[in-house]
Amino acid sequence: MIGRGAPNGKEMRLLIAGNWKMNGLGASLAEIKALNEALAANPVNCDVLICPPASLIARLANVANRDVAVGGQDCHPKPAGAFTGDISAEMLKDAGANWVIVGHSERRQYHTESDMLIADKTKAGWRGGLKVIVCVGEVEAERLAGKAEDIVGDQLSFLPDGASSANMVIAYEPVWAIGTGRVPTIPDIAAMHGFIRDILVKRYGPDGGKMLILYGGSVKPDNAREIFGVKDVGGALVGGASLKAADFLAIIAATPGTS
Ligand code: PEP
Repeated sequence: MIGRGAPNGKEMRLLIAGNWKMNGLGASLAEIKALNEALAANPVNCDVLICPPASLIARLANVANRDVAVGGQDCHPKPAGAFTGDISAEMLKDAGANWVIVGHSERRQYHTESDMLIADKTKAGWRGGLKVIVCVGEVEAERLAGKAEDIVGDQLSFLPDGASSANMVIAYEPVWAIGTGRVPTIPDIAAMHGFIRDILVKRYGPDGGKMLILYGGSVKPDNAREIFGVKDVGGALVGGASLKAADFLAIIAATPGTS
């Protein structure tokens, strides 16, 4: 699914991924039905992914049509075992997911996840047959101290061998922009995405040039088009604005080549 060419002025087909976080009950499946209907009526020029809470993955996978992929928000490094409350990549796949997010800043912050653990989770996702979105990003104090690139470069240095444009996507999410309504300037987004691209190419060769780099942090219908116009922005990881189909569809509609 990732890596298909796209006639949109960008080399890659964009990915618009929704992270529902700890939101959503059975009634939220109505939003997926609305997404299905809109995408069937109006084919789009990007891939669409929803990562609901684990409790909804199987039901969402049953309801979603083939235009909407389903992912988990985290996975344990091990395939099974005595790890109460955790979920493995194999379980996500079994429930109908094809993707998993790892290293989200809320996992790093509230579950003190280390880069090493996130690397193990990345490999677990691949072992379980999932494509993996690896999140990176600096906190505000780090940006103000001029250390954003150092921090992101350090996080990326933990990426495991074996990554390819077919199995991994990076999401650059400045932590201070998540859920705050604040967004970096367009030149700052361009600079960081260019920085990440250089690291991926140095590490993975020409295939690193094809890996998608999503932007995440307060993406909304009214700022999405400008963000998607930035070189090396390969789509978005969207939190709050993914919960309502209407907002999410408006972001999807802002991808180049989609009207
Ligand atoms: C996120 O949680 O990954 C995110 C980007 O959230 P929001 O869009 O609400 O800032």
